[in-house]
Amino acid sequence: CGIVAYLGHREACPIILKGLHRLEYRGYDSAGVALLNGSLNVYKKKGKVADLEKYLGDKDTHATVGMGHTRWATHGEPNDVNAHPHYSTSERIAIIHNGIIENYAALKTHLEQQGHVFHSDTDTEVFVNLIEEIQKQNECSLEEAVRLALHEVVGAYAIVVLSKDAPDQLIAARKGSPLVIGIGEGEFFVASDATPIIEYTNEVVYVNDYELAVIKDGQLAIRSREDVVQTPYIQRLELEL
Ligand code: GLU
Repeated sequence: CGIVAYLGHREACPIILKGLHRLEYRGYDSAGVALLNGSLNVYKKKGKVADLEKYLGDKDTHATVGMGHTRWATHGEPNDVNAHPHYSTSERIAIIHNGIIENYAALKTHLEQQGHVFHSDTDTEVFVNLIEEIQKQNECSLEEAVRLALHEVVGAYAIVVLSKDAPDQLIAARKGSPLVIGIGEGEFFVASDATPIIEYTNEVVYVNDYELAVIKDGQLAIRSREDVVQTPYIQRLELEL
């Protein structure tokens, strides 16, 4: 239901948690974060963002790249395991997702035959394993694997993907669910609306349907699902202070 991600020079976790609070008005049943700092750590809890914060209390949350999610369950009951982020089978790739993958059951059967193991009842866990399988089969970049996966999923989504093997990257994509990128000074934000971002920057790019936003090497690139480079339309928001 709500998405927040950060890549930059600051501590990611407090920015993500604050952003999740700002998105609370959208309604949700669970919340979680993934933090990348050499290892990829996922922490998630059924309940409020405050419950997640309590759970994070004694954890090492140091990281300058990460993402967080508030879930409004559509596939699988609200519980800790079904909360986002979700991991791929190798635990090297993580995803957060708003929306519904309609053909998840067929994809799941196929991926299970390829040896993927599922822990949750969500449609989302299928998406991240599909990305992993495509990356393995094509020996391609994370960005390319996400792009190819978008051709196979049917449904609506806004996603953000992180990989242990691509530690300075955030890959985001959308079809039918809102997604906005904030561009700061050497830092980037991704969110389902601008409310978690406006505190840090007023330069935003709204991602369109069938587009991928690739944040890497300190740059934002927007590409179509057909891999055509798009010129990002940078909008300046009025800051509400
Ligand atoms: N369909 C996904 C799930 O049930 C995402 C729901 C959402 O948009 O929060 O986990």
